[in-house]
Amino acid sequence: MRPARPARRPAPPTPATTPLEVLRTVFGYESFRGDQAEIIDTVVAGGDALVLMPTGAGKSLCYQVPALVRAGTGVVVSPLIALMQDQVDALSVLGVRAGFLNSTQEWAQRRAVEEAFLAGELDLLYLAPERLRVPATLELLEQGHVALFAIDEAHCVSQWGHDFRPDYLQLSLLHERWPDVPRIALTATATATTHREIAERLELTEATGARHFVASFDRPNIQYRIVPKASPRTQLLELLRTEHAGDAGIVYCLSRASVEQTATFLSEQGIPALPYHAGLDRRVRAANQARFLREDGLVMVATIAFGMGIDKPDVRFVAHLDLPKSVEGYYQETGRAGRDGLPSTAWLAYGLQDVVQQRRMIDTSDGDAAHRRRLSAHLDAMLALCETVECRRRQLLAYFGQTGEAERCGNCDTCLTAPETWDGTVAAQKLLSTVVRLEQRGQRYGAGHLVDILRGNATARVTQLGHTDLSVFGVGSDLTDTEWRGVVRQVLAQGLLGVDGDGYGTLRLTEQSAAVLTGDRTVALRREAPKPARAPRSTRKAGAAAAVADLGTDATAVFERLRAWRAGTAKEQGVPAYVVFHDATLREIATRLPTTLEELGTVTGVGVSKRERYGPQLLEALHA
Ligand code: ADP
Ligand code: ZN
Repeated sequence: MRPARPARRPAPPTPATTPLEVLRTVFGYESFRGDQAEIIDTVVAGGDALVLMPTGAGKSLCYQVPALVRAGTGVVVSPLIALMQDQVDALSVLGVRAGFLNSTQEWAQRRAVEEAFLAGELDLLYLAPERLRVPATLELLEQGHVALFAIDEAHCVSQWGHDFRPDYLQLSLLHERWPDVPRIALTATATATTHREIAERLELTEATGARHFVASFDRPNIQYRIVPKASPRTQLLELLRTEHAGDAGIVYCLSRASVEQTATFLSEQGIPALPYHAGLDRRVRAANQARFLREDGLVMVATIAFGMGIDKPDVRFVAHLDLPKSVEGYYQETGRAGRDGLPSTAWLAYGLQDVVQQRRMIDTSDGDAAHRRRLSAHLDAMLALCETVECRRRQLLAYFGQTGEAERCGNCDTCLTAPETWDGTVAAQKLLSTVVRLEQRGQRYGAGHLVDILRGNATARVTQLGHTDLSVFGVGSDLTDTEWRGVVRQVLAQGLLGVDGDGYGTLRLTEQSAAVLTGDRTVALRREAPKPARAPRSTRKAGAAAAVADLGTDATAVFERLRAWRAGTAKEQGVPAYVVFHDATLREIATRLPTTLEELGTVTGVGVSKRERYGPQLLEALHA
C-alpha cells in the first residue's frame, strides 16, 4: 500500500535535453566513459542501478546528469558532510543549482535550501544520511519533487563498525516511500561480499529489477611501486624531489607520532606538508584538510583516518611508509591518486619490522580465533602483493576477482624492472635451524639477534647468552645483514616462520616450517637491491611535477603560468583550485593555446558556464 501523499507542487518543466547535451554543455566533456551512458540511460528511464566503479572513473556524473535531465531534484545521500560545500561550489561554477542539508548549518541556511527545493529551484540536493531519520525531512521530500535518489559511498551499509551504518540501513525506506523514484547506489569498494550486501540491504538485487554495473577496477594511470624499507623518510624525500616536485600528495603512516615526525621532517626539507590524525584538535584537522583541498602542491601526512571521499582530482602520489593491513585498504588508499587520469604514483616502503609488528598486532588483538584468522588472511594477501615477482597490477586485480588483464601491465615496478629471484632454500633452512636450536634451549629471539648469530657477529649479547657455541653460529656469513633481513622478512611473509604473541616480536616455527627443514619445499626469494632501489626508469623528467611529465618546455612554462592564475582566482572566490579548472584542462590549454572563447570552449572540461565565467581572464593570462 502506498501512503497517501500531500499534493505536490507541480514539477518544473524540463528543457528537452539529452544526457549527451548535458555532458557537453554543462560539463564540457565530449563523450561518456565506460558504462556511464548506459547507467545514465537506466536512471533517466526510471530504473534502479547499483554501480561499482573505481575512484576516478566518474561516478558523480552517473547521477548528476540524470538529475539534470529528469524533472525535479536529484537527492544525493552522502555521509561526507565536510565535503558538501565543495561539491556544491563545484556544481555552482558549472551553472548547476545545488544545495545541501546537514547538521553544520544554521537554521536560516537550512530554511533557504528547503525553500529552494520546494520551489523547484534545485537540480541537486545533498543530504547527510541521518537527515532521513528525521520525519520533517521526509515530509519535505514528499512536498517537493524528487527526480532520483543517489546513495553515495553505498558500502557504508555493509561494513560492520562503520559509523554511518545505522543511518544507511534506514535507506531501504526510500524505496517503500517512493516506489516510483529511481535509485542509484554507488561505491568504489570492489569485493564481492560488499557488492552482495549492498544489493540485499538496499533492495537493489537484480531479482528486484535493479541493474548492476561493475567496472574494471584497473587504474592504468597509477604506477604501483613497492620498495624495501631502509630509511623510509629519506627514501620518501628522494621520491618527492626527483619525481614529484611541487605536486600534491598523501603520505600514510601507521601511528600519530610518525605522522607528526614525518610532516615536520618534510617541512624542514622545504616540502610544504601538513599533519592529519585523530589526535589533532578537530578544528586543526578541518583546517588542514581544507588547505590540502584548496591549495596546490601540498603534501598531507596522515593516518588512514584521512581520505574517504576526498575528491581532489590532482593528488599525484600516495606514499605509504608502513604496510597497509589489507589489499582492500591499500587499493582504497592508493586509489586517491590520479582521479584526473594523469600519471600518478602509488609508492610503498615495506620492511621486516612491518611484518613482525602486524603479525604481533593480530596475535594480541581482541576478538575470537575466527576474527584473527580473517585478519591474518588479509595480511597474507597484502604480503603476497609486496613480495610478488609478477605484475603487481595483475595480482591486485586478481584479488578483486578481475582476471584476464594482460600478463604484464608495463606500469608497475616489477614490469618496469623485472626483479631477480634466487633459490633461498638453503638460507631459509639455516634461518629455521637457528630457531630450532634456540627452541631446544627453550629460547626465542627476534630477527636482529637471529641475524647476528647467522652472520657470526659476536656481539656482547650473543656472547653473554653463549650463542657463539651454537652449531649455526656464523653459517650465514655469505650474506650481508641487509640480505639476511630480507630473507627473514620474506620467509615470514610466506608464513614459513611466525611471530610470537609475547609482544616482543620473537620468532617461532609454524606448521609449514617443517617442509623446508626436511627439504620437501623449496623457497624462492626476491633478490634485494644492494642499495635501496632507485625509482625504476620511467618516462618522467627528473625534478618535474608529474602533471607536466610529457609536456615540452614551452608548454610547461605556460602550464605553470595558468596554474598561478588558477591559484589566484580560486583564492579570490574561496573555492578549491580544481573547482576552477582541473590540471588536465590546463594541460590541454597549454598545448593547444586557444585564442578565442569559442576555441576555448572545445577544450575538455570547459563547459558553457565556465567559459563565460573564466574565459576572458584566462585568455588574458594565457596570452599576457
Ligand atoms: P569518482 O566519483 O568515480 O571517483 P568522479 O566523478 O570524481 O569520480 O570523476 C573523476 C574525474 O573524471 C572528474 O574530474 C570528472 O569530472 C572526470 N570525468 C568523469 N566522467 C568524464 C567523462 N565522461 N569525460 C571526461 N571526464 C570525465
Ligand atoms: Zn605490471
